Amino acid sequence: MRILVLTDVHGNLAALQSVLATAPAFDRIWCLGDLVGYGPNPNEVIERLQEFSLVSVLGNHDWGVLGRSDPYIFNADARYALLWTQTELNSENRRFLASLPAGIEVDGYVLVHASLREPIWEYLLDVDAARKNFAFHNFSVAFVGHTHIPLVFESVENGREVRGLLPDWHEPLQLDGRRLLVNPGSVGQPRDGDPRAAYGILDTEARTFSFHRVAYAVEITQERMRVRGLPERLIDRLEVGR
Ligand code: ZN
Repeated sequence: MRILVLTDVHGNLAALQSVLATAPAFDRIWCLGDLVGYGPNPNEVIERLQEFSLVSVLGNHDWGVLGRSDPYIFNADARYALLWTQTELNSENRRFLASLPAGIEVDGYVLVHASLREPIWEYLLDVDAARKNFAFHNFSVAFVGHTHIPLVFESVENGREVRGLLPDWHEPLQLDGRRLLVNPGSVGQPRDGDPRAAYGILDTEARTFSFHRVAYAVEITQERMRVRGLPERLIDRLEVGR
């Protein structure tokens, strides 16, 4: 089976559509959270994802939109977008978000938004944080999002060493016999300096994960955000991927 693994769509329908239109053939979607927040099309993103066989977990923005955290945890721009999303989201889609788990194990793979220790909030950006998560839970391969940066951490020599690996955009990552934390990067608001939408394809038979990138019409999302009065800084960052 081939699974489209994506995360942090953040209401960016144009980016999601580009991913769905160009991704290699897949059977289902695993979403690592933050379906909404920041972007202009939260309802449409949720509804489009539900057209597929979908497994999804909750992200910190989804959590915030559901009113489960103090909006003042978020910076001013994120908070503005979050409060706007609260008013925009219809009750059916709100119920859908509320039904999502904070983490889940599917076919031996663990899916969480942020980390094993802190499924909603921890930023897995360095080997020290990764090491603590390898020690916390005995998963083989876990998929995470949240940082919006495509990145892999590997635990080797029974956890004595943890290393960070940059994604190889040409060769699939081999998963067999390895302990890995894999972040496919963000569909709707990349932050690694590349504005193109990021996602990955898991091949459960070959036991590989390939990283992918696709350009989308950033200006369409930016225009929709302007029309909705969303913060200028959130609009600008989409074209630089920061
Ligand atoms: Zn996010």
